[in-house]
This record gives sequence, structure tokens and C-alpha cells, in this order.
Amino acid sequence: MKIAFLGLGHMGLPMAKNLAAAGHEVTGFDVMPAAVDTARGAGLTTAESGTDAATGADVVITMFQTGAQVLDAYRGTDGAAGLLEVAASGALFIDCSTIAVDEARAAHALAEAAGHRSLDAPVSGGVVGAENATLAFMVGGTDEDFEAARPLLEAMGRRVVHCGGAGLGQAAKVCNNMILAVSQIAVAEAFVLGERLGLSHQALFDVASNASGQCWALTTNCPVPGPVPTSPANRDYQPGFAGALMNKDLGLAEHAISATGVEARMGMLAREMYAQYAAGEGASQDFSGIINTIRADSA
Ligand code: NAD
Repeated sequence: MKIAFLGLGHMGLPMAKNLAAAGHEVTGFDVMPAAVDTARGAGLTTAESGTDAATGADVVITMFQTGAQVLDAYRGTDGAAGLLEVAASGALFIDCSTIAVDEARAAHALAEAAGHRSLDAPVSGGVVGAENATLAFMVGGTDEDFEAARPLLEAMGRRVVHCGGAGLGQAAKVCNNMILAVSQIAVAEAFVLGERLGLSHQALFDVASNASGQCWALTTNCPVPGPVPTSPANRDYQPGFAGALMNKDLGLAEHAISATGVEARMGMLAREMYAQYAAGEGASQDFSGIINTIRADSA
């Protein structure tokens, strides 16, 4: 089975390396020459272009930043052939980028119209998860295509969940990250309120982590130093999951909220707060650092 892996950035390169290490025949490409050089230096087979990598490929995996990049690469731009045109007939297209649900559905439709199969398979777990092959994959597409992709996804991740039909992997990702954003803000507000009331961080942690306030934003990503030694708060909010990425994902949530008409006041407020956070130095800090903005904005 011939696999093309396109997009060798922070996430894509370690994912492609893990696929190759599991014994698959992988050819990588990135539009940034430096990324191709790094990949080659890391022992990955690389191609001269995306369509070179994908010509005759049975599986085409993409790990780009945006939906527009995915759709452009599938279709080709400026009259040039796209990935759909050159892949083997009936190839399986797996897009692991985090993009909008409607963009993912458009990618599925293009693949299907070209006689191919396709899955949306965004991930969580970050660069560390990509390097250690412990990513979680949220997958949208048919049962058959999911089962075909499963061994490949399992070579790059630890949890692989079939969320439903086309676009529903992206739907799961956007919903999960909206919960995460809202809960991280709620935990931060509670710590600042506790500070003002004279409550120690440790005491609040000991109570809430064993009570109904328990959540990942508290017990893993605790926004104050001390209670959870591995949380980003203990290393000056080095990410982790950067504010810029949370802001990007909340932009996709906002898009989905307005497309569906859902009354998501908390999600929209989180979207607004993280847009402000990411406009400043929060862009490169962990998203739990929003506690510092909340503290600074408190009278
Ligand atoms: P990145 O910018 O490091 O990598 C994306 C790469 O895609 C870039 O190197 C870019 O040059 C390349 N690219 C764009 N168009 C291309 C094309 N047509 N052909 C070949 N290469 C092309 O981004 P990343 O951090 O690796 O993230 C990738 C995706 O994963 C994003 O959608 C992001 O939201 C999502 N994600 C990232 C993280 C994270 O922690 N970084 C975690 C979960 C999900």
C-alpha cells in the first residue's frame, strides 16, 4: 500500500514518521522546502511536489492548517492537477487537519465525485501526542472506510473513535474544544475568586478535584502553579495548547454555532475571550494562561 503524507509541520512530520516506523511505505511532501529538508533528514522518503507524492497512492493523508488548503490541494489550483486527479482509483483520502465541518463535508463530496473514499480524522493530543503516537483521532466517514483506515490511525494514535458520517469527526472535535475553552475559563475564574476570598490554591484544588467541579482543565491543566506539577502554569504557561490554536478552534465553533443557530452563549463568550487573549502574548502561551488576564481585569 502506497501512502502519500502531505503537510510535514509540527504535527504532520512526527505522524508520518510513526507511520513509516510501523512499516508502511510513506512518501511525504510539504510546500515549505525547509519542512521537506527536515523530513528527509529524519529519514522520511520525500517527493518533489504534492502530486508527485500522491501519484498512484492508495492512501492520501493531509495535515494542513486550514480547510481552504485542503480543498485547494484536493482540486488543484491554477489549472494544475490536484491530489484527487493523480491518486490511484478508489484511493482513501484521510484529512487530519482541524477544519470546519462544512469544509470537511465539501472535501468528502469532492473525493466521492472523483471516485475516491474519504474520512475526516482530526486529532487531539498535540505535538507530544504526535511524537509518541498517542493521539486521539475523531473520525467521520463510512464504517467501511473507517475500518480500512483504522490500522493506519492506530500507528499514529492511541484512541480512534468513529463519530459517524462525513464531517462528524470535525463536529466532535469542535464540540469537545468548546467544552474545554469554557471549562478552562470557569476554572480560572474560580481560582481568582478563591484568591480574593482568601482561599489557598491547594485547598480549592483538593476540594474541587474531588467534587463536582472536577474536570480536565482543573486536574490536568490546572491554571495555577503547585497543585498539578506538570501543568503549564508551572513553566510560565509554555504550551501545552497555545492560545492561538484554541482561538482557531473557537473560530470553527463560532462558524458551526452560527450555521446551526444554536444558543451557545458560553461558547460565544469563550470565543470572544480567547480572541482577545490570542491577540496579545497569549497567542504563544498555553490557553490556561487566560487566568492572568482574568486576574488583571479584576478590580
Ligand atoms: P503547521 O503549520 O506546523 O503544519 C502545517 C503544514 O502544512 C505546514 O508545514 C504547511 O507548509 C503545510 N502545507 C500547507 N498546504 C500544503 C500543501 N498544499 N501541500 C503540502 N503541505 C502543505 O501546523 P500543525 O501545528 O502541524 O497543525 C496541523 C493541523 O493540526 C492544524 O489544522 C491544527 O489546527 C491541527 N492541530 C494542531 C495541534 C498542535 O498542537 N499543533 C493539535 C491538534 C490539532
